[in-house]
Amino acid sequence: MLQKMVTFSSSDSMFNMKIGFSKDIHVTKAGVPLILCGVNIPSEFGLESHSDGDCATHAIVEAIFGALNIGDLGSHYPPSDPKYENVSSLIFLDDTRRILDEMKYEIGNIDLFISCEKPKLKKFIPEMKSLVASHLKISEEKISIKAGTNEGVDAVGRGEAIEAYCVCLIEKI
Ligand SMILES: [Zn+2]
Repeated sequence: MLQKMVTFSSSDSMFNMKIGFSKDIHVTKAGVPLILCGVNIPSEFGLESHSDGDCATHAIVEAIFGALNIGDLGSHYPPSDPKYENVSSLIFLDDTRRILDEMKYEIGNIDLFISCEKPKLKKFIPEMKSLVASHLKISEEKISIKAGTNEGVDAVGRGEAIEAYCVCLIEKI
């Protein structure tokens, strides 16, 4: 029996939405600030990086890049470029907003998960949402931020690293 063949291409009007995913991990280091989603979180350790080590912001930016299919974070902002030394990763969100506008996409929603043994992040989440929303120029309702431990196992569980995972949906405007 012949089955009706349906073919799709990226130009099909019904496919105006794209999904993106990313994850990032940074190693903890004593005596440096711990910054996640732009928020400076009281802690005896922070994250190693050329920039501010904000793995949560990096995962958000790269998930959006994934949805746009424009490569990874490092190809846009090379760690070897002195321009990005010790900068706030929030500038990457500002740049991502510019790219979204240029490519005519809007963010549907963002779902971020931060895997962090300590410190506890829950009370900082409202401020994280507010900062990410203001830099991406979207409403806070579009951003979900969750945090959990790694139950004491692996590098994250031993407090040797903090990891972030992000998915996002974007829509052509
Ligand atoms: Zn990173």
